[in-house]
Amino acid sequence: MTFIRENLPDPVSYFEAEGLKLQGKGRWRTTECTFHGGSDSMRINTLSGAWVCMAGCGARGGDVLAHQMAEHGLDFITAAQALGAWKGDGKPGKPHRPKPLPATAAIQVLAFEATLTAIAAGNIAQGVNLTHTDRDRLLVAARRINHVSEMFA
Ligand SMILES: [Zn+2]
Repeated sequence: MTFIRENLPDPVSYFEAEGLKLQGKGRWRTTECTFHGGSDSMRINTLSGAWVCMAGCGARGGDVLAHQMAEHGLDFITAAQALGAWKGDGKPGKPHRPKPLPATAAIQVLAFEATLTAIAAGNIAQGVNLTHTDRDRLLVAARRINHVSEMFA
């Protein structure tokens, strides 16, 4: 059981398969930050796969694997498996797009987003106004839930 970094998808293919539109030319591209909902604050390095949100939401990582972990709430091995970079799972080859999540990981994502949504609903019921950031985060939750449900459609 080994992690094979060379089997990670190339950054442009990966981020586009994640549904992001990469804008601009050159090594660094601009796209939306799915972590806080910024429309053009994420910068992506097309060579290394590094990603960083310039809006200060704290989202950043060194490669596509770190993005897969953060975006889908996966541990290292599950994320590496999803990207075809984990040897020993009986899935040789070099996929150009992420594989669907394992069902257990998908359920973890759904559970997390459902909890987050329930907390927000509770706050509203108590008369607490949601901040702009909270509202954006809820939209991200809805997107992630849709993303997961489409995998199993
Ligand atoms: Zn951000």
